[in-house]
Amino acid sequence: MRFVTFSESDGKDSVGCLTGDGNSILDLTSSGLAGDLVSVLEQGKDGLQMASRLADKSTAIPIERIKLLAPFPHPKRNIICVGKNYFEHSKEFEKSGFDSTSGGQTIPDAPVIFTKATTSVIGPEEPIPASSDPSDSTDYEGELALVIGKAGYKIGQAEAFEYISGYTIINDVTARNLQQLHKQWFLGKSLNGFCPMGPVFVTADEIEDPTELQVSTWVNNELRQQASVKDLIFDIPVIIETVSSLVSLIPGDIIATGTPAGVGIGFTPPKFLQPGDKVRIEISKIGVLENPVS
Ligand code: MG
Repeated sequence: MRFVTFSESDGKDSVGCLTGDGNSILDLTSSGLAGDLVSVLEQGKDGLQMASRLADKSTAIPIERIKLLAPFPHPKRNIICVGKNYFEHSKEFEKSGFDSTSGGQTIPDAPVIFTKATTSVIGPEEPIPASSDPSDSTDYEGELALVIGKAGYKIGQAEAFEYISGYTIINDVTARNLQQLHKQWFLGKSLNGFCPMGPVFVTADEIEDPTELQVSTWVNNELRQQASVKDLIFDIPVIIETVSSLVSLIPGDIIATGTPAGVGIGFTPPKFLQPGDKVRIEISKIGVLENPVS
């Protein structure tokens, strides 16, 4: 299923699923489903089965009549992220001089894990507020994000996919000068509006092999990033194993897997985002996340 969170004119958040043609939303909240996707995931397989049953009976709303939000507009915990997880990006980051944490090591020995504040999340078409970055160095990072559907601790690589309920798209927007200044990445990546997400949460059963997914990012119609998820340095099972070896994962946790080469600081001089720009991230089989820059 392809879930969305949306609001109508009343401003209340609702959960729905996209019809096959993508032109309409089946409103599951009005049919009796919980009002947010995390609550659905917390019910495990029962929640998803109930959603599927309700979808059959729900009335379709034309997509023009609603506003799509991030599928998880208010995550319970910080977005967990993996840094420097594609070879070519890791090299461009080191070369850019903006990486103050590498200690001269271009390719990390172990996954680089950091988080983004929940308050950084915005939905599709909402502006990325580059003008609120005091360091004037706002950059984009198109990424595949995993959504955890089952609580787990010390999850082995072989069972990692049992804990993933589905996938969405994240733009790990970053204030590069702040990332460099503060050594740790939390502040530079957590400004309000610096985590565009969605619009669709696709359940794992719709994606047979996530390594086949292609991540592409355009800025103003210029293709900047293009890579396959199979190019990850630390693959999805390793990421799940690493994080859960120390921290329990819970339903609704979101893990952004890293960004490919082609970010703004990969260029000389850097191509930072400016008000008026438009960033479009497409991941095959998932969809398109587009945000203007303000
Ligand atoms: Mg990133």
